[in-house]
Amino acid sequence: RAKQRGRNRYSFYTSEMQALSLRQLTLENALRRAIDAGQLQLYYQPQQDLHSGALVGAEALLRWEHPVMGRISPSEFIPIAEDSGLILPIGEMVLRQAARQIRDWLDAGIAPPRIAINLSAIQFHQPDLPQTILSILDEYDVPSSRLELELTESMTMEDPEQAASMIHRLHEAGVSLTIDDFGTGYSSMSKLKHFRISKLKIDKSFVRDIVNNTDDRVIVGTVVSLAHSLGLRCVAEGVETHAQKQMLHTLGCDHIQGFHFGRPMSAARTGDFLRRQDSPGSRNPSREPGPV
Ligand code: C2E
Ligand code: MG
Ligand code: MG
Ligand code: MG
Repeated sequence: RAKQRGRNRYSFYTSEMQALSLRQLTLENALRRAIDAGQLQLYYQPQQDLHSGALVGAEALLRWEHPVMGRISPSEFIPIAEDSGLILPIGEMVLRQAARQIRDWLDAGIAPPRIAINLSAIQFHQPDLPQTILSILDEYDVPSSRLELELTESMTMEDPEQAASMIHRLHEAGVSLTIDDFGTGYSSMSKLKHFRISKLKIDKSFVRDIVNNTDDRVIVGTVVSLAHSLGLRCVAEGVETHAQKQMLHTLGCDHIQGFHFGRPMSAARTGDFLRRQDSPGSRNPSREPGPV
């Protein structure tokens, strides 16, 4: 009986695993074509300054619309892109698409101070990353101060010496750096203070219950103080409600990003959003990049 159950369980898992790898293979092949077919488009999610209410930037988030399979989440296709090496051409395409978009918004007089791009660990480990970024920015005549890069804690802590040198080179190139999903990984405080980063981005898992959960409130308050004592700004992601926003303001957090201020939007809809922000009577965010 036990044997029978064991065999059933075995065959159950294999077919499940086969289905999974089949989907991965299908997605990998489709992703290869998606790049040239223009199915990968950046959406933009605005970020707000809690002190002034002004729009301070936007995060670029990649969207994949497959003609048959429909919308596929980056949480599913980014890992596939990383395993297959496709993340390098995709990462470059993301930088180029963002740079072209910043140029368009600059020309229209509605560019947000900064656009943040998510970097994959594989990109971060390319020694020529700073040159790649600078040549793309140069191609579209976009000042490097308009670009922000999001890294994760694991990218910086795997090999802190190498990370510090890459971060230093990116900083020298004029782009600002943010640690994404802060609090979900492991960071060494003594290493953190040597990195030339500008911001810590508090993961949305700490924001979700911030109004009712004392532990989360204490954690966020601690991260805010840590950031400020290191001379960094602090941004919270996943802010969905006014109550969460108020709590973050009380805790001294600098910026917020989330459905409450704005969902990730297509470039066209982001343009409308930016124009509304800038319209007479509304708060007028500065056109030039201020402090991060
Ligand atoms: P992330 O960088 O931490 O991005 C934040 C995620 O939170 C996004 O998910 C965003 O849509 C979602 N989000 C924003 N506001 C709210 C909110 O109020 N509530 C909730 N529940 N969620 C919110 P998304 O777009 O599905 O992206 C998932 C992850 O995929 C990103 O996490 C990032 O790690 C990765 N990713 C996205 N675009 C790129 C890219 O161009 N390159 C790389 N390497 N990774 C990317
Ligand atoms: Mg991010
Ligand atoms: Mg994040
Ligand atoms: Mg995240």
